[in-house]
Amino acid sequence: MELLTGITVRRSNYSKLPAVDFSSLEFGQHVSDHMLVADYAHGEWQQAQIVPFANLSLSPATLALHYGQTVFEGMKAFCTRDGRINIFRLERHYDRFVRSLDRMCMAVPPKDLFTEGLVKLVQIDKGWVPRKGGASLYLRPFMYASEAKFGVKVSDQYRLIIFSGPVPELYAEPIKVKVETNYTRASKGGTGFAKCGGNYGGAFYPTQEARKQGYDQVLWTTGDDNPFIEESGTMNVMFVINGKLVTPPVSDSILDGVTRDSLLTLAGDLGYPTEERRISVAELELAFHDNSITEAFGAGTAAVVAPIKTICINNTDHQLPKYSHESLWRKLKHKLEQIRTGTEQDVHEWNFMI
Ligand SMILES: *Cc1c(COP(=O)(O)O)cnc(C)c1O
Repeated sequence: MELLTGITVRRSNYSKLPAVDFSSLEFGQHVSDHMLVADYAHGEWQQAQIVPFANLSLSPATLALHYGQTVFEGMKAFCTRDGRINIFRLERHYDRFVRSLDRMCMAVPPKDLFTEGLVKLVQIDKGWVPRKGGASLYLRPFMYASEAKFGVKVSDQYRLIIFSGPVPELYAEPIKVKVETNYTRASKGGTGFAKCGGNYGGAFYPTQEARKQGYDQVLWTTGDDNPFIEESGTMNVMFVINGKLVTPPVSDSILDGVTRDSLLTLAGDLGYPTEERRISVAELELAFHDNSITEAFGAGTAAVVAPIKTICINNTDHQLPKYSHESLWRKLKHKLEQIRTGTEQDVHEWNFMI
């Protein structure tokens, strides 16, 4: 694509790339050579720059560190079969970034800046996009309140940074989750739909408690007297009940996942009935008793699909049937991979080829 804005580039003198073993990547271990930095000040966006990845220098009074105006996104670039690079559903990620920023009273970077910044960054670090399998280049745009001033206030200055790093395909080992009805991740009227930092910090304690009890993740609920299922860890959650793909509708306490939307669409394409509706914990328990639940899985960019083998409800472990090649989650994951790597036609125009 044609680049419109003049993003200046200062290239790194050396590359860390030769030291990376792409056959044994670990999630979050490596960062690529460059990052994009753009500041918002005096009511406008300043010149964006691509510079060597480096530490930041911050005033201890930086507002983000105290009052939590921070928002991030997580998306992936893939190498297609014909050797091009595809940023998956870039626009939908931008739209969500804007919704998160609005909720946190933060400045919004123009779409051109976001898009062209990402494209130029990925082009400069294209050697970092894994060539094989389900591996990809994880892209992490984020923004924080950069004004240095103590006293609770909405910041007048922000910094947008985008960096990236190669990540492996996460192996889909089925996990054990615990339905959490005491702690909640998000609440009605809160910030659960935004990818803002505080949501994650607040989720650590209950997750740690669940881990101590032998579970991998928490299945979040609304936490009231008749609780409804919300999400699984930092992923949306989906079930197959009576042969239908069922997932809670997005709300102000449920994040509008790009993977969730993609899998719902693909299930429809494959002819499976789908339902976006609220699912109570009581319904889930009943579905185990009459064996009408056959699958449960998390959906999110990092792992794509995280199949669930055990769900603990009120101190009782309920087991899902063993998964096979016929499991819907496997078919959906495969179809998504085929589209992203250009093996199958991108009928929904999800791929952003650069
Ligand atoms: C990021 C995230 C998801 C998944 O969203 P994707 O766009 O599919 O990556 C789901 N829930 C929470 C809480 C998240 O932070």
